[in-house]
Amino acid sequence: MNKFLKYNLVLLGPPGSGKGSVAELLCEKYGFRTVSTGRLLRLEMASNSELGGIISKQYKKGKLVDENIVVDVLFNYLDKNNLHSSVILDGFPRSLGQAVTAYNKDSKFSVDLVIYLDVDYDALIFRISNRLVCEKCGKIYSKVIPEFLPKTPGVCDVDGSTLHQRPDDKKELVQERILEFEKMTLPLVDFYKEKNLLKTVDGNGPIHEVFDRVVALLESL
Ligand code: AMP
Repeated sequence: MNKFLKYNLVLLGPPGSGKGSVAELLCEKYGFRTVSTGRLLRLEMASNSELGGIISKQYKKGKLVDENIVVDVLFNYLDKNNLHSSVILDGFPRSLGQAVTAYNKDSKFSVDLVIYLDVDYDALIFRISNRLVCEKCGKIYSKVIPEFLPKTPGVCDVDGSTLHQRPDDKKELVQERILEFEKMTLPLVDFYKEKNLLKTVDGNGPIHEVFDRVVALLESL
C-alpha cells in the first residue's frame, strides 16, 4: 500500500481554487475523509447556537473566523469522530497562527503533506461567482461550468435538496476573501515549504485535469 493513503493532507489555496472538489474526488478514489472548516462553521451557524451567532458576525464579512474558535471546532470534531489519519483538511489552516497552533497541539492529528492549488485570479472570480452549493451535503455545483452542472437545474444530484449561492460567494465579498487569503493564508506557503511538507499543483483548467495532476503527485511520493 502506498504510504500517502495514511497521510493527513492539507489542501491550501484561495477561495475557488478547487479545494472542495479535489477533496471530494480524492475521497472517492482513495477513501480519504474530508473535513472542511467552512462547512463545520456553516453547520454551527445553522444550529442557531450562541457560538454560531459569534461565528456569523465574522463569516458574513468575508473575514476569517476567530482562530481559537476554529481550532476548537475543528479539533473537537476530529477527536469526537476519531479522525486521526487519511483525513483531508479543506480550508484549515488559514493563518500562520492556526498552523502553529495545530503544529504544537498535543493531538494525535498531524499534517503530513500540504498541496497548494495555484490558480489565476480571473479563474477564481469566474468559478466563485457561478458556484452553487447543497447546504445539506456540501456538494459543489456551478451554474455554467459543464463538469459541475447539476442534472436538474437548482437541485442536488445526491439528495434532491435545493442548491443555493453561499452568501459569501456574492461578488462584493469575493474580492474581500481573496485579499484576506493573500494577507493571512499565503504566508503558509513558506511556513510549510520550510517544513518540507509543501507541494504546488497548477490548479488552472478543468477539474479532471487538476485532479490528474494531484493524483500524479501523490502516486510519485
Ligand atoms: P470556505 O467554505 O472554506 O470557503 O470558508 C468560508 C468562510 O468560513 C471563510 O471565508 C471564513 O470566514 C470561514 N473559515 C473557514 N475556514 C476557516 C479557518 N480555518 N479560519 C478562519 N475562518 C475560516
